[in-house]
Amino acid sequence: MNKEQADIQAKIKAEAIRLGFSDCGFSTIEPLSQEKTFLLTWLKQSYHADLQYMANNIDKREHADLLVEEAKSVISLSLNYYKGDISYEFGQAKISKYALGRDYHKVVKKKLKALFQYIEILLPHFKGRYFVDSAPVMDKVWAVKSGLGWMGKNGNIIHPKRGSFFFIGEIISNLEVESYHDEIQNYCGTCRRCIEACPTQAIVSNAVIDARRCISYQTIENKGSIPNNIVPLLNDYIFGCDICQDVCPWNNKVAISSEIEFGTLDVSKLNYRDYLKMNEEEFNTLFEGSPVKRAGYLKIQNTVKQILSHRNENLD
Ligand code: SF4
Ligand code: SF4
Repeated sequence: MNKEQADIQAKIKAEAIRLGFSDCGFSTIEPLSQEKTFLLTWLKQSYHADLQYMANNIDKREHADLLVEEAKSVISLSLNYYKGDISYEFGQAKISKYALGRDYHKVVKKKLKALFQYIEILLPHFKGRYFVDSAPVMDKVWAVKSGLGWMGKNGNIIHPKRGSFFFIGEIISNLEVESYHDEIQNYCGTCRRCIEACPTQAIVSNAVIDARRCISYQTIENKGSIPNNIVPLLNDYIFGCDICQDVCPWNNKVAISSEIEFGTLDVSKLNYRDYLKMNEEEFNTLFEGSPVKRAGYLKIQNTVKQILSHRNENLD
């Protein structure tokens, strides 16, 4: 790598860390042809359930330079959200760790914007866009190429020291880069803990998730009722699911996130009855700013009622 390029990338990475990102890596834009084939196969199996947007803009997913004109590179960023394990009492309604604080779209976007503005000052000809889960970008693929981790069998990006409890964002721009990191080797090896722990057998093969069976999809994205064969397998999750990450050995020793916007919501004492009794205003106040609010009061109520009905408990 030439020295000037190396200095620029080192400055960008230092600023990213100063802004609170956990890691930052760079990759050169290239067509994601293999990944596109993988995506088309996944779609053909209907593993995307009714996430119709996954079938849109396939060309932009393959060619990031169709999304951002003159794009030369991707800067991938990760942000740890792990605030420790929540001790729920047996039979208590659970919410995925990532949702126990301010919506990551807002937190990550704010940091991306600040980093973007920093680069604009550093490089007057800099042009690009930043994204967090908000465009047809194969963010996990770019994260792997940028050296943020490997794609685990559970479909999450895993870093040998940082585990997988992190969000990903990226800046796609005209910045010319050379690979800053080497890609990280896949250390899943012969481990199958996530596959075996998944209560619904949603991990159908390495990094292939059938959303129709995934608790996370069913409790967040599915706008209708959860299928009757999945309800008994929810393991008390009413929003999201952490099981395949909790059992991953690479998450055993991850550091606690220093992000003050995460981990602010304590729902560990709320039981199903508490949710059932909540009116919409109370729900919105409790989950203000959290991704749970985006799923909405009616969705959470419906899930709670489906679980209680399955247990033959009354809904009064
Ligand atoms: S999030 Fe839960 S349901 Fe989905 S694949 Fe992981 S363990 Fe299975
Ligand atoms: S649990 Fe094992 S197989 Fe699954 S992602 Fe972690 S290391 Fe890979």
